[in-house]
Amino acid sequence: MAIKALFPTLLYHSGLAKTVGERFSRTLLDECQALAASDDAGQRWSAKHYLGGYTSYGSLDRLHQVSSVFAGLARRLDWHVKAFARRLPYDLRGRTLAMTDCWLNVMPAGVVHSLHLHPTSFISGTYYVQVPKGAGALKFEDPRLSKMMAAPPGRAFVSVPAKAGDVILFESWLRHEVPPARYAGERISISFNYAWSVKAESARKRSTR
Ligand code: FE
Repeated sequence: MAIKALFPTLLYHSGLAKTVGERFSRTLLDECQALAASDDAGQRWSAKHYLGGYTSYGSLDRLHQVSSVFAGLARRLDWHVKAFARRLPYDLRGRTLAMTDCWLNVMPAGVVHSLHLHPTSFISGTYYVQVPKGAGALKFEDPRLSKMMAAPPGRAFVSVPAKAGDVILFESWLRHEVPPARYAGERISISFNYAWSVKAESARKRSTR
């Protein structure tokens, strides 16, 4: 007899705090707080779409291209994303992985980010900058849930707690949410997408045309 796991769903969870260093972590936190305070367009967008919190998703969604601090974080994340991709059952055909989007989220207690996926990307994830006690769980939905008809009750959701300095990576089709929670202070996180990019060779040809 043999029982095998077919099509397992992989999740990558690692601490980045040590490799990032205390100084960089402080600089990143300062940058996040300054950005949240100065981004008027983002505050207006958040008032409509992110009740009670702030996100730069509607205003500055490529922070790695406009801030050297966020670019520094992206460089550190690249290694983790590559390591995760190597464990996934895909043939990248020599193409590279590149960060395409990067945005900031600031959530005081009670703020919700309802169930969603990131449809135009390959790998998505979150880096946790500040996580007050009682905040931070990221809740994932069993991707088979919509296909279950007469299955007995099981585990439809798994909550993954995170602390400051953690990075969580998942395939972009995996639905997830941040449920409301009670805590003091602000949960600050940076979300990002990576795409399976065009071949390095054809990208070079295009840029020299
Ligand atoms: Fe998300």
